[in-house]
Amino acid sequence: MSVSVLTFGCRLNAYESAVMHAQAEAAGLSETVIVNTCAVTLEAERQARQAVRRVAREQPGARIIVTGCGAALDPEAWSRLPGVARVLDNRVKLAPESWGGRAPAAPDFSGRARAFVPVQQGCDHRCTFCIIPYGRGPSVSRPAGNVVSEIRAMVEAGRKEVVLTGVDLTAYGADLPGRPTLGGLARRVLALVPELKRLRVSSLDPAEIDDDLWRLIGEEERLMPHLHFSLQAGSDLILKRMKRRHSRAQALDAIKRARGLRPGIAIGADLIAGFPTETDALFEETLAFVGEAEIPFLHVFPFSPRPGTPAARMPAVPFPLRRERAARLRQAAKTQAGRYCAGFVGRAVSVLIEAGGRGHTAEYIPATLLGESRPGTLVTARVESSEDSGLVAKAM
Ligand code: SF4
Repeated sequence: MSVSVLTFGCRLNAYESAVMHAQAEAAGLSETVIVNTCAVTLEAERQARQAVRRVAREQPGARIIVTGCGAALDPEAWSRLPGVARVLDNRVKLAPESWGGRAPAAPDFSGRARAFVPVQQGCDHRCTFCIIPYGRGPSVSRPAGNVVSEIRAMVEAGRKEVVLTGVDLTAYGADLPGRPTLGGLARRVLALVPELKRLRVSSLDPAEIDDDLWRLIGEEERLMPHLHFSLQAGSDLILKRMKRRHSRAQALDAIKRARGLRPGIAIGADLIAGFPTETDALFEETLAFVGEAEIPFLHVFPFSPRPGTPAARMPAVPFPLRRERAARLRQAAKTQAGRYCAGFVGRAVSVLIEAGGRGHTAEYIPATLLGESRPGTLVTARVESSEDSGLVAKAM
């Protein structure tokens, strides 16, 4: 057995796992299991600990190396788990030297239709429910030249779509000379990698989108018509208690502005249901927001207290009520999604095929293609119907 990686959590962790795997293999490591942990919820940490114990039990000879946000918060505790040979800090986990190598090894994304490229990591904010800044440290941006060359290599390797990702993506560049912006970076990528078919940006803070990015949303076909906002709530009082930087009105304005610049654009958002002190009336404000903003794609999380955060010390909403509110938000979004997707029936869409004839449109709507198709290809298709699982389309 050479090297295997168990990944928990976000796209950033997924990317870093691919890099660590390449570094460890290039350095000739063997009998090694890397566990890349997440700390966004207690449950995520519990699953990673369980995985470590399972590896120790089933592969007694394996060297277990633990890293990630969970490990960063309490390295001592993780080092005491059975089979753990080493706990590696998040800040050095990608460095070749951490794996006994000298030169960076290229991560292997073959077999994946879309590639995630982290351009920023860490966070300077302190939202009251979030533990990430304590695990990942302050915001650090990658120089644009470095990002462009990585994307060029991915496109040369056949990737049709690249997603710019980060922990607090809209903070990109604030720590770099000349304070470049996320919009500036996207414009540079599109200009210097003309063969790139699709550029997507991951979660955005609605109050921190720069003017260049707004311009690109309005004028650049290769920037995908799909924005996912990190909203978290639709009530000003709850947003204040979360220490978010935007108000309900600002979030609504951002969504309206996006639709004005790019009619038909897909809007998604993250929302937390049952944040401490959320009364029925405050919840109704968030529910009404989903309707008013007509958000079709929602990621809803029942609040999960994270020890070490201010929100964990606030008066909690009973868990069954958190779950019930989450279900109501998802139902509201499902209604919006049905209306939004029905509007595509009879129209032509571009689908990036991932596997088994399934993929995503430019708006990031799941789509099933009737007939033959090859993973990693872009297919223009006419939408025949809209189902709960997404669109059904036929190649043109
Ligand atoms: S912006 Fe807030 S929610 Fe996002 S990583 Fe930073 S502290 Fe956490």
